[in-house]
Amino acid sequence: MYAEIIIPLALPKNYTWGIPTELAEGVMIGMRVEVMLGPNKRYAGIIKQILTEKPDGFNPKPILGVLDETPIVYPAQLQLWEWMASYYMCTEGEVMQAAVPSHLKISSESVFILNEEANIDGQHLSDTEYIVSEALQIKKQLSLVEIQKLLDKKSVYPIINKLIQKGICSVEETMHDKYTIKVENLLHLHPDYHSEAALEQLLNDWTRAPKQLALLLSFLHLQKTEGHVQQKALLEKSDASHAQLKALIDKGILVVEKRKIDRLAVDASMGNANLHQLSAAQQLAYDSIVEQMKTHSVNVLHGITGSGKTQVYAALIEQAIQSNQQALYMLPEIALTAQMIRRLKQYFGGKIAIYHSKFNPNERVEIWNKVKSGEIKIVLGARSALFLPYKNLSLIIIDEEHDASYKQQDPAPRYQARDTAIYYANQLGAKVVLGSATPSVETYYNAMQKKFGYYHLKERFSEGALPQMFILDTKKQNDQSAILTPELLEAIRATVAKNKQVILFQNKRGYAPYLICETCGWIPHCKQCDVSLTLHKGKNLLSCHYCGAAYPVVHTCEACGKQSFKQKSFGTEQIEEKLALALPTLRIARMDLDNVKGKNEHDQLIQQFERRAIDVLVGTQMVVKGLDFEHVDLVGIVDADSLLNFNQYRVNERAFQMMEQVSGRAGRKNDQGKVIVQLSQTNHPVIGFVKDHDYSAFYEFEINNRKHFAYPPFSRLMSILLKHKENHIAEEAANHFLKSLDPMIQKTVMGPAQPIINRIRNKYIWELCVKITKQPKQLQIAKKQLLHFIRLIEVHPRYKSVQIIIDIDPN
Ligand code: ADP
Ligand code: ZN
Ligand code: ZN
Repeated sequence: MYAEIIIPLALPKNYTWGIPTELAEGVMIGMRVEVMLGPNKRYAGIIKQILTEKPDGFNPKPILGVLDETPIVYPAQLQLWEWMASYYMCTEGEVMQAAVPSHLKISSESVFILNEEANIDGQHLSDTEYIVSEALQIKKQLSLVEIQKLLDKKSVYPIINKLIQKGICSVEETMHDKYTIKVENLLHLHPDYHSEAALEQLLNDWTRAPKQLALLLSFLHLQKTEGHVQQKALLEKSDASHAQLKALIDKGILVVEKRKIDRLAVDASMGNANLHQLSAAQQLAYDSIVEQMKTHSVNVLHGITGSGKTQVYAALIEQAIQSNQQALYMLPEIALTAQMIRRLKQYFGGKIAIYHSKFNPNERVEIWNKVKSGEIKIVLGARSALFLPYKNLSLIIIDEEHDASYKQQDPAPRYQARDTAIYYANQLGAKVVLGSATPSVETYYNAMQKKFGYYHLKERFSEGALPQMFILDTKKQNDQSAILTPELLEAIRATVAKNKQVILFQNKRGYAPYLICETCGWIPHCKQCDVSLTLHKGKNLLSCHYCGAAYPVVHTCEACGKQSFKQKSFGTEQIEEKLALALPTLRIARMDLDNVKGKNEHDQLIQQFERRAIDVLVGTQMVVKGLDFEHVDLVGIVDADSLLNFNQYRVNERAFQMMEQVSGRAGRKNDQGKVIVQLSQTNHPVIGFVKDHDYSAFYEFEINNRKHFAYPPFSRLMSILLKHKENHIAEEAANHFLKSLDPMIQKTVMGPAQPIINRIRNKYIWELCVKITKQPKQLQIAKKQLLHFIRLIEVHPRYKSVQIIIDIDPN
C-alpha cells in the first residue's frame, strides 16, 4: 500500500510514500506520518490518500512511523485544502502550513523553541546569544537553518547550547508532539496538622526560623481566602524564598501536589443566553434570516453601525448550539477578538473559545483537540479559525465582512477568508451570515442578484440617529499648516467638558510621513525600498513602513549639503503632540502599530478607554473597526484627503467604508454623535454619500463605475508580481511572460507596469494584472495557462531567479 502525503512545504505536488506492512494496520487518512524527503530531511506529513497501486516510474521510500492514533484532521478539511490550493494557485503544503498549529507540524529542521518562562533581560548574554534569543522572542521558535542565516556562521551549536543551558530555549529532536502539558504546584497542609489542635500546637511550639513561620502563616491565610494555594502565588505574596518553602516541605508541614492545568477550562460559567432580549427590529432581522436560510446558504445582515448586529448573531449562534451543532464567529482582526469575547462570554460562558495565530502554540493544540471532539461549541477567531477540525459546523458568522484584512497578503495561501468560508460552508452544508454596516460591493451585488439572502437593519438599538456629519473645508482655513482646525479643537474641548469621549482618526502613523530638503527638494528614502522615510519623533528615528528598517534622523541633505528640512504631512504621533499642546488638560492616548504591540496592550488600551480613563483616543485603522464604546460623542477624521488619493480600483469603496465605520463609533448609546471631517476635496462624490450615511447611493455610484471598467464583481482579477534585484531582468521576464501567453489571454492582461512602490527590500517589482470576464471555465483556462508559463519562467536560464507571486482576487 502507498500513501499520498502533504508535507508543509511549497512542493509542486504531493508525493507518495510506501506504507510498510507492519504500519498498515494503524494508518488512516488525516493522520501524521514521519517521512524522509531527500537524503536527510525528516517531516511529519499528513496522509491525504491511501493508494493500492504503486506509482509509475519510481520506487517510493517507506513511511518511517505513524505519529497519531486518530486522524488530526477530518477528510472535509483535506478537501478544503485541495480547493484552496487550486483556487489560490498555491500548494496544499502551503495551506497545511497555514492551517495546522505549529506544535502539530514537526520536522528535523524546526527545533528550537522559546521557553516562555525564560527571563531574557535578566540573563547575561553575549551578542550572538542575544540576537538569537531576540529572534526567538519574536518568532517563538527557530530552525537550525534560520539560526544559521541569522548569525551567518558555520558553527552555531555552541551558541544554541548556551541558550539551552540558560533555559532560554529547548530542543525537540524527537518526532513526538511538542505539545506539553502544563503543570502547577499546589500546596497543602500535611494531614498530621489538619486538626485544629495539632496546628495550634505546631504554631505555639515554634521557636526558631521566623521567616518560615511567616511563610506558613501566609499559606494559612491564602488557604482560607482562596480555597487552594498555588506555590507560585504563595511565593509572590509572602516574599519568601524557595529555600524557606523547601524547609517547610522537608519538615513535613506542607506537601506539594503537581496538578495538570487545563489551559482553557478557566471559565466554566454557563453564560446567560437570555441576557439581552432582541429588540423588535432585531427580532424581525433574526426571523427573516432564519427564514431565508431555508433557501439561501449565504445571508447578508446589513445593519447600520450600532444596530446591534452582535445581538442577532448571538441569537443565531444560540439556535445552532441548541441543536448540538458548532458555530464559528469570524472577525477580521485578532485585535477585535478581546472586546468581543467579553461580550459573548456574557451569553455563552465557557462554551465559547477564542482561536487565532497569536495564541500560544500549546493553547492552540488544546483548542484544536476540543473542537475536534465537539467539546467546544463556539469559536471566535480571525482567519485561521476556519481551519479548525470542526466536528459538526453548521453556522459561520463573518462579522465586518467588507474588511480587507480577511485577505491574507503574505505568505501563500493568499486567500480571502470570507470567500473561503463560503466555499467551505457549501461543502459542509453549513450556513453563512455576512454582517456589515458597509457591505463590500461584491457582497451587496450578490445580494441584489438574489444569490445571497439579504436583510437591512436600519435603526440603531438605542433609537439614536446616526451621527451628524460636519465637513470642514481645509482650503478655507486661515492657518493652512494647522493640523487640527480651531473648529475641531473647540468641539473636542466641549465634548470632554461634557464628560464625553473623542476618537481622532488618521491612517498614517509616525510623526511626519516624509522630510524634504528646503533647498533642493531631496527626500530621504529607504535604502532597500522605493519609499520615503517616516519621522518618528518619540523614538528619534526615520523608519521605512515597508521593510521596517530604521535610520538615524538626517540633518544634512545628501544632495546639496544644506541643513534645513521641512516635515511634510502628519501621522498619529504628531496629532497626539499637537492636541496635547492645544488642550493640555486632556488625557490623550494613541493606538497604532508603534504604540500597541502585544495582543494584551491593545486590549488594555481599549479597557482604559471603556473605563473612561482616557478622554481622547488618537489612532489608525485600529480604532475604526467594530469596537463598541458607550461614551464617544465626537469622532474626528483628521485628514480625509489621504483616504481618497489612492490609485486603486477599490479606493472609493475603502474610503466610504473607512469613514462610515469610524463615524459609527460616535453616539452609539443615548445622544446623537457628531463627526467632523477635515478635507480639501469637498466635492468628491464619496464625501456626499458619507455625509448622508447613504450606502445605497454610494453603491449605485460605485457599481456603475465597476461595470464601466469591467472591474469586480463583473470580472475576476489576478495579480502576478515579478520581483528581481535587477530592474531590467524583472521587466524583461514580465514581457517575456506576457508574450508567451495565448493572444486570447494576452488581451485580458494589463501591464507589465511598475507599481507605485516599485522596489521593496532591494527587489524591483513588475506587475501584470489579469482581468478575466466571468464566463464559466474562463478562469480555469487562464489559470492553467498562467501556471504553465510560470513553470517555464522558473526554469528559464535567464529568468529563473525571478520571484513570482500570484495573487487571486487581490485586495
Ligand atoms: P453593531 O455591531 O451593529 O454596530 P452592536 O452589536 O455593537 O452594534 O450593538 C451596539 C450596542 O447596543 C452594544 O453596546 C450592545 O450591547 C447594545 N445592544 C444592542 N442590542 C441590544 C439588545 N437587544 N439589548 C441590550 N443591548 C443591546
Ligand atoms: Zn538639498
Ligand atoms: Zn524599506
